[in-house]
Parts: sequence; C-alpha cells; structure tokens
Amino acid sequence: MDAMARRFFIQSVGCQMNILDSELVAAELLRAGHTQVDAIGRADTILLNTCSVRQHAEDKIYSLLGRLKEIKQERPELIIGVLGCMAQKDRHEIFRRAPHVDLVVGPGQLGQLTALIERVAAGGGPQLEISLDRIGSDRASVERSFVQFAPDRTAVRRPAPHQAMVRIMFGCDKFCTYCVVPRVRGPEQSRPAAEILDEVRRLADNGCLEVTLLGQTVNSYRDTTGPRTIELADLLYMLHGIDGIRRLRFVTNHPKHTTAALLQAMRDLPKVSPYLHVPAQSGSNAILERMKRGYTVEFYREMLARIHEMLPHAAVTSDFIVGFCGETEEDFRQTADLVRDARFKNSFIFKYSGRPGTKADELYVDDVPEAVKRRQNNELLAIQNAISLEDNQPLLGRTVEILVEGPSKVAKKRSARDSSRSKGEGIVQLVGRTTCDRIVVFEGSTELIGRILPVTIEKIDAFTLFGQASMTS
Ligand code: SAM
Ligand code: SF4
Repeated sequence: MDAMARRFFIQSVGCQMNILDSELVAAELLRAGHTQVDAIGRADTILLNTCSVRQHAEDKIYSLLGRLKEIKQERPELIIGVLGCMAQKDRHEIFRRAPHVDLVVGPGQLGQLTALIERVAAGGGPQLEISLDRIGSDRASVERSFVQFAPDRTAVRRPAPHQAMVRIMFGCDKFCTYCVVPRVRGPEQSRPAAEILDEVRRLADNGCLEVTLLGQTVNSYRDTTGPRTIELADLLYMLHGIDGIRRLRFVTNHPKHTTAALLQAMRDLPKVSPYLHVPAQSGSNAILERMKRGYTVEFYREMLARIHEMLPHAAVTSDFIVGFCGETEEDFRQTADLVRDARFKNSFIFKYSGRPGTKADELYVDDVPEAVKRRQNNELLAIQNAISLEDNQPLLGRTVEILVEGPSKVAKKRSARDSSRSKGEGIVQLVGRTTCDRIVVFEGSTELIGRILPVTIEKIDAFTLFGQASMTS
C-alpha cells in the first residue's frame, strides 16, 4: 500500500442508483489502493452519497455533516466528501453550510473522485466538481458534462457476487413537475447495448446469477448507435442468451413505455422475472396532469389490464405521492380507489415534499397541511398492507424458488450483539427473494448464500414469507 493510501467510509442514502454508484466508487478506490472501513471512527475519508428527492433525505445529510464538524475539529486531516444528487443541486451551498467539507462531487463527476481525494490530501484545498445546469446550456454540452460513470467491473470486489445492478440508462427527460431527478441526474442517455452485454457477460463469468437493470424510466431504453434501434425488449432477448445468468429484472418503469413488445419478452423469456415496478403516483386525472405524468388514470388501468392478460402471475408494484399541491380529499379518494382496484403487490407511499428548482415548486403552492399528508399516507398504507397480506395468503404451504441473498436483518443484528449465541455451526436466519420480488426468510447454513433453492412457506405477513428450505446443508 502506498503512502497516500486512505481508509474510506462510504454511506449511501436514497435509491438503487445511489447504491450502485457507491459500489462503483468503492471499487474504484479499492483499485487505487485505498481500504474500505465500516465505521466512521476508523476512517480518514468519509464519503456521503446523497439524495435530493425529498427534503427529509437532505436534512439527514446536513445533520450528519453537523456531527462530523466536531470530529473534523479533532482530526483536521480527515477528508469529508459530499457526493451525488445533493452535491449537484446544492453545490456552493454545501460549503457555505458546512465549511468543513472538502469535496462536493456531482453524479456526473464520480469518475474523478480518486484524483480529487488525492488533490485534497496533497493540500489542494476544497474541490467542487459538478455538471452543467440543464437550463442555460445546449443539450449536447449538458449531456457531455454528465460523464457516464460505468467503470470496468472485472476486478471489482462486489458485496454480493451472485447479484448485480447494471445501469442501462443515465438521467431522465420526463420532468414530472414534483421531481428533482432530471436536474440532478442530467439528460436521459441510454448506454450502448454492446457495452451492457459486455458488462453482464463479465459479471456472469464472475458467478453473478441475477442482474437488475437500472434506469429512471428503464422501459424507455433506446440504443440508437447501431444500424437498428435496440429497445428494452430487444436488450432482454440479448441478455437472456448469456450463460450463467439465471434471473433478469429491471426497474423503474414508466407507464407510457410498457409496450406490448416488452410484455411479450417477459412472457417468452423464462429468465426475466415476472415483476414490474410501474409507479402510478396518483389516481386522479387532475393531479396526474398537474404532475405532468403524461397519462390518465384510465390509461394506467388499461395498462394494468394488458399486463395481467399477458402475464397473469406477474407482481406489479407502484409509488404514490400524497398531498401534492392543490390535492383535494376527492383526489385522494380516487388514489385510494386505484390502490384498492389494482391490488399491487406493494406500494411505496411518499408525502409530497417541495423541491426547489422544480416546476411544482415554481408554479404551485404546497398547500396540503402536514397532518393531512400524514393521515393520507397512513390510510393508503393500511389499504395496501391489507391487500399485500391477502395476496400472500395463497402462498401458505406452497414451495417457492428463491435466490438466497444473505443473513436477514435480525441475523445481522444478532451476530453484531452476540456471536456466541448462534444456533449451531453456520446456521442463521437467511433472506432471499422469489422472482416476483417476494421476501422469504428461513433458517439455513450460510453456505446457501448465492444459491437458488426451493423453500416451503409456513407463515406469512404483509411484507414477508417465512419458510423452511428443502436443502439446508
Ligand atoms: N423514475 C422513477 C419514476 O418515475 O417512477 C422514480 C424516481 S424517484 C427517485 C422515486 C419516487 O420518489 C417517485 O416515484 C415518487 O413517488 C417519489 N418522489 C419524487 N419526487 C418526490 C417529491 N418531490 N416528494 C415526494 N415524493 C417524491
Ligand atoms: Fe422523476 Fe418523473 Fe423522471 Fe421518474 S420519470 S425520475 S419521477 S421526472
């Protein structure tokens, strides 16, 4: 290890894109000879990979930065970096509110991180690297400034070798009025299919069984670099042929791009998981229009009907925002009706959070009181949870196939607390997932991690299936 080698700690907030970015950043730093540690106290470089989608996520980072100030006073050699969406959105504001920060690096500049850390360590002072704003420059320049971070993953030490996220698109062009993503993640750009195939082949060679393709609107994927346009359905056919890959998944879908070709590919390709996350956001046309989602609730319901016709056993999940600007109780009732009728496997429900720089923030008033948002959030969750519980009921006594991911949260806590109280040689509570993204918990040997195996379900709740593995050695 060279004299400049550092011990870095990285914390990720937010979506799967951020988890993937953190994994890639960590791999790049390891490759450069640095060491990863799992506690702030043991680190000399602290990296926070941030999220700007809701105010709450930003508040958490500013509060953590507040706590890091004292540590930095005691250890001035500590390097503190703010990475990702908040860095792009708040830029100079971060240095103003937290002058002890050394690095502010946007999602389009993560490839420079290793060099930037070295520059700070060498006494170069605070470093700011972000992409161009979407307003004020031409599209080609903005695209170029959001440099695609897709480093070579051959030598990567990945946290779960049998599973991998693979980004197939960067950015978003939809500009839903509430959403900061198009601003902080830049213009929508699809990666060339050849590059994705290459990456997945290498992952498969390294023992990866399950690949999750990522994009903000993953089903609008379009590679136009070759003689014919390659869409998501085509890409799935291409990836399906890769030996070793057993499961292919993709998130997040936009309702407008759920094409017949995509549903056919899902029906015809056994490795493609029958699972679709297609956020509806609202069940009211007035709200969908104000959100600029580009579809009506009738269109969304018709899309659901098409999915169920083509893929009767598919699990569909959704996101909803409650308390959007100008939303009435009647609008909320219509959202509740959609949740009841659609019978989603599960839904993520968010209280609207005004985001500076978005159209909604500029044009509308965030006029639904916090108490109403909270009540509606709870009400919608209760409706969804009752459906999820009913939906899990038929699985009692059935045998499902899962990919074993690792120790469950309970097992991780237990082993952190007291390793001597384990049940026996390597037997822990494990967690895995079905192809429909159902979480299954069972007891078994840690040697089962990374295996695909049958589990018989003995107990259920709204979120989890509990079972017994048929093979436990
Ligand atoms: N691209 C995805 C899509 O269009 O569904 C999701 C991106 S966003 C990171 C994930 C979810 O956060 C969205 O589906 C939406 O429900 C929620 N979200 C985005 N902006 C929000 C805001 N300002 N307030 C509350 N929730 C928000
Ligand atoms: Fe945000 Fe809409 Fe783009 Fe999703 S599709 S990232 S919600 S702007």
